[in-house]
Amino acid sequence: MLRFAPSPTGDMHIGNLRVAIFNYIVSKQKNENLIVRIEDTDKERNIEGKDQEILQILGLFGIEYSQVIYQSQNLRFHSAMALQLLHDKKAFSCFCSPEWLDKKREEAKTDKKAYRYDGACENLPDELVIDNMNPFTIRIKQPSEAITVKDHIKGEVAFNPAEVDSFIIMRQDKTPTYNFACAVDDMLSDISLVIRGEDHMSNTPKQDHIRSSLRYDKKIEYAHLPIILNDDGKKMSKRDDASSVKWLLEEGFLPSAITNYLILMGNKPPKEIFTMAEAIEWFNLDNISKAPARFNLDMLKHINREHLKMLDAKELSRYVGFADAEIGEVARIYLEEVRTTKELKAKIEPIFAPKIIPAEFEEQAKIMAVTIKNAPYFEEYEDFKNHIMKESGLKGKNFFKPLRLLLTGAEHGPDVAEVYKYLKNYIGEIVK
Ligand code: GLU
Repeated sequence: MLRFAPSPTGDMHIGNLRVAIFNYIVSKQKNENLIVRIEDTDKERNIEGKDQEILQILGLFGIEYSQVIYQSQNLRFHSAMALQLLHDKKAFSCFCSPEWLDKKREEAKTDKKAYRYDGACENLPDELVIDNMNPFTIRIKQPSEAITVKDHIKGEVAFNPAEVDSFIIMRQDKTPTYNFACAVDDMLSDISLVIRGEDHMSNTPKQDHIRSSLRYDKKIEYAHLPIILNDDGKKMSKRDDASSVKWLLEEGFLPSAITNYLILMGNKPPKEIFTMAEAIEWFNLDNISKAPARFNLDMLKHINREHLKMLDAKELSRYVGFADAEIGEVARIYLEEVRTTKELKAKIEPIFAPKIIPAEFEEQAKIMAVTIKNAPYFEEYEDFKNHIMKESGLKGKNFFKPLRLLLTGAEHGPDVAEVYKYLKNYIGEIVK
């Protein structure tokens, strides 16, 4: 079983989408199910409706999953596991107040040392614990030996016991901490491989330690994906528009193209343009580069155009608001100039909109519009052109400029003869 575990705390970041895509591909390759676990235990950061938005995005990208689990529904299991650890003396109650712990943290900072729990409550006699009316947290005892994490991308990384520390697994309000909930849930769902962002690397030994303290000996495999950098070489953050999946979709990037690019980044694929189904054939986590991947919007635009070219004419027309193969063919001509569906729409819409004619050609355009409206249907552009030229008496620039403006709604663009081929049945709607 694999899992994608988003937090419903904001717009989906492309880094998260990349994690979801990789999980999906590997689940297909391993023929194992993929579950979605909504990590909703941080009540203050949760944003209403984000869970549904995430699921919609997964649907749009063709990422199928067998089940959706809400982490908050597992709270009783988290408490039960904490109790088991206390019972086995693998965990202890800690009465240190938050203020006291903050003070200790400050001291460590002043001494330029990494903060570690000082073990004050680890060996309290049971009588002191039972009689203590103060609020308490539950801490897991730090491991006695180093923990080595084997990662498909990072290789082997060892963490010494002090780095893992005796950390809190249940807060004073009896809610589990993030690492505890995550470790227990991965165990309950029988996860075999965790693919996630490298910002979670330091959590991994803690989560492994929780499970081995619970005597769960299945070894979960890991793959921590390197971060994504923006064009300036900085970590892509909310300030970068392109980091938001929603923004990319609104800008007119196809899900298939975004998927292609997120798989291509920092990878060694056999070709540049491919579909998710093709990637399932050859994708290998071990080929993902250890170095951060750099996001390049221009590259994504290039890939997007290639994916737009792969659509059949009718499908393409849908992206510009029609359901008509001929309009799709016109759109295909404009693909020479543009790379997103938003840009494509901006080319096709003016064709059917009332025309804005520069003053210089206003008179000629009026004459030409009347001529076109009175003209019969012509199969060939040459015949159409000759007829309009003859009937309107217009020549040269005075003929070609207004003709282009009336037929395409723009002063510049592709060969009018090419466009006419697909628009000839719509002349009545275009020149009104
Ligand atoms: N909820 C975490 C996040 O969105 C992911 C945790 C995990 O994959 O283990 O970053």
